[in-house]
Amino acid sequence: MGRPSRARLDFRALRHNVGVARQLAPRSRLMAVVKANAYGHGAVAIAGALQAEADALAVACIEEALELRYAGIDAPILLLEGCFEAHELQTAAQLDLWVTIENERQLQWLETASLPAPLTCWLKVDTGMNRMGVSALRAPAFFQRLKASHNAAREIVTYTHFASADDVASQQTAQQLAIFDALSVTGPRSAANSAGLLAWPGAHYDWVRPGYMLYGNSPMMQDHPNTQTLLPVMTLTSAVISLRDVAVGESVGYGGTWVAQRASRIATVAIGYGDGYPREAANGTPVLVNGQRAALAGRISMDMMTVDVTALDAVELGSEVVLWGAGLPLAEVARCANTIGYELVTRMPARTPRIVVHD
Ligand SMILES: *Cc1c(COP(=O)(O)O)cnc(C)c1O
Repeated sequence: MGRPSRARLDFRALRHNVGVARQLAPRSRLMAVVKANAYGHGAVAIAGALQAEADALAVACIEEALELRYAGIDAPILLLEGCFEAHELQTAAQLDLWVTIENERQLQWLETASLPAPLTCWLKVDTGMNRMGVSALRAPAFFQRLKASHNAAREIVTYTHFASADDVASQQTAQQLAIFDALSVTGPRSAANSAGLLAWPGAHYDWVRPGYMLYGNSPMMQDHPNTQTLLPVMTLTSAVISLRDVAVGESVGYGGTWVAQRASRIATVAIGYGDGYPREAANGTPVLVNGQRAALAGRISMDMMTVDVTALDAVELGSEVVLWGAGLPLAEVARCANTIGYELVTRMPARTPRIVVHD
């Protein structure tokens, strides 16, 4: 078994979460987003499981798509940022990758390419996030040029991306939808990321594009009823590898940032920032030791962390520790580390073994 730190991946939860998405958006096709190594979960394994459940997959770039194709994933894959160089269109045509067109340069590459087969194109429109996409004003002309190009497949999907769908109190989503609805284009449309799918039924259109929620986590700022049935896919675990008693006034860890206010029992756990646990996590961040809540005590090291287990019984070498996942919401840990759950899972390093559990 060796060093006990690992990310357990519950594929039953993954399939369940796709079911939640399907139920919420029953009339939409589902594109499962697996960019950035499937948000740190491991792209090949996740895409392999998802391709039977989803209508298509999405990644950021062609390198990520190639990894999936080489591993035998044959579902359609959309490149969310499109091509970065003209020659990528050849590979896309050979490997049946769908391309985003979001600027004049990408459109010209497509128009002037000599391709073995037409490409499925997704036209990205900027409806107010001001990060990617052609402006709503220019979108109809782009759409017509795609329609006229022999390199674009007949059906062109028009899509946009939300800036604030995670906040049900924000006006921005309604504003973006109004701009999106007013576009004079025909054919299928897509707008919803996880938050759009969960909280904005008017945003489902023909395709939904969930990522984060499929991994069982809520993207919403506020509690939302539709997130309650999601099940976490990743549970990050390790074990206690050392135990000691410290007296009042003694400090623990680098910099001595945690000082015992009472005689305390400190458990050292074999996981640190080298394993994807955030160094930013503050003293008091919750962890589960043998299923009981305990509090982080002292700075996170590269390979270890220290936990105050004074109030817990039966803690011994080998006791299981859960850092997030089943029983301990990722979002709660992320808040204690001044970040969001998206970042914590996505930056999970290769060092941490991913162990797939099917039931
Ligand atoms: C990443 C991404 C998504 C998925 O977003 P989640 O919040 O993870 O659901 C959807 N659409 C686009 C364009 C994206 O870049």
